[in-house]
Formats: sequence, structure tokens, C-alpha cells
Amino acid sequence: MFVGHFAIAFLLWRLFPQVPLPVVLIAVSFPDLLWSLLVPAGVEKVRINPDSPLQKFIVFEKFPYSHSLVLGSVWSLPVGLLIAGLLNTRLVVPVFVAGSASHWLLDTVVHLKDLPVLGFDGDRKVGAGLWKRGPVAFVVEYAFYAIVTLFALSGLSLVYALILGGVFHAINFPSFFGSMRKNSVKSSNGYAGLALLGFGSFTLIASLII
Ligand SMILES: [Zn+2]
Repeated sequence: MFVGHFAIAFLLWRLFPQVPLPVVLIAVSFPDLLWSLLVPAGVEKVRINPDSPLQKFIVFEKFPYSHSLVLGSVWSLPVGLLIAGLLNTRLVVPVFVAGSASHWLLDTVVHLKDLPVLGFDGDRKVGAGLWKRGPVAFVVEYAFYAIVTLFALSGLSLVYALILGGVFHAINFPSFFGSMRKNSVKSSNGYAGLALLGFGSFTLIASLII
């Protein structure tokens, strides 16, 4: 999931306006940001299908540190503490951890059964697998993004957020519908780099315009 995560960031910002927007945007992206560093480091493993860009064919072989509910939340704690210390706002800690945990929760809707709960070998894995129905997943994710954002933002911020989410979601089109060409991403490191670029650029642009 991509844009859907950012709707929760807007919601957290609405509920806790003392926490700056870039912080909640980073919080909801945290598992994927961590993952995009752990894949090239060889700690976590993903296998892409060179013949298809569809999400359902991506095999997340191992990502217990970034994408387990418990271990992932444990990692988000020191980062939340660090940002809270820098900003001198204690509220950042629970909001950051909640934002990061929301990422896991939303990922369980779309991922195939590959998301660990605790984060150790032999762990139970969950995932409702909405990605198996690409076009449905495409509509559901943007509808979720739009509805939550409608509730969280207003005025020009709302308009900008809906357009920004729409543009990024449209860029993801081939991963839901397939494409005529083969997968343009050729390696797991390339896929991790793309995730870093996607989450990083959305966070940057949203921080500037919303
Ligand atoms: Zn994720």
C-alpha cells in the first residue's frame, strides 16, 4: 500500500496538531523507509517478478524488522523518542509509534499472507490479500485515502492532498492492473530504491504544499 498510509498521517495531524505534519508523514512511512534500507543491506529479502509489475507477484520473503507489528513498533520507539527530543514535544512518541503501527495494520488488508505479527522465525503471518484483485484494490485504496483525507483536512489543503494522492496513485497504476511491457523494475534493490523515492518524495511535497 502506498497513498492509503498517508491518509492516516493527515488524520493524526488533525487529531494532534502539535505534532508537525512531516513527522506524521515519516511515521506512517517508517516501515517502508526502514525496509528500503534493510533490503540493499541484505537483512530483509524481497523477490520481484521480472515478467510482471503486479503487486501480487512480489514475494516478500523476509521482513520481520520493518513489517512485523511488534518488532516494527519496537524499532519505531527510539526514532519517535529522538524526534520528540529534537522538537521538545513528548506527544511525538505515542503519535510516531501509532503512525508506524498503522502502516502494518493497513498493509494487512492488501498483502498476501506474508506480514509477521511478532517478528521472529516461525511466526504467524497475516494478510487478507486484496492485491489479488488488482483493480478492486486500486479503487479501494484511493477511496479510503479520499474519505479519510476529507475528514482530516479542509480548504486548499484538502484539494492539494486529493490531487497529490491521485497523482501518486496513478503512477502506481501498473502495479494494480499489470502492463503491456514486462516489469520495469529489474531487481529487489531497484524496488527498494523506488519505495524510498516514492515515500520520500510524497512526504517532501506534502510537507511543502499542505
Ligand atoms: Zn509496507
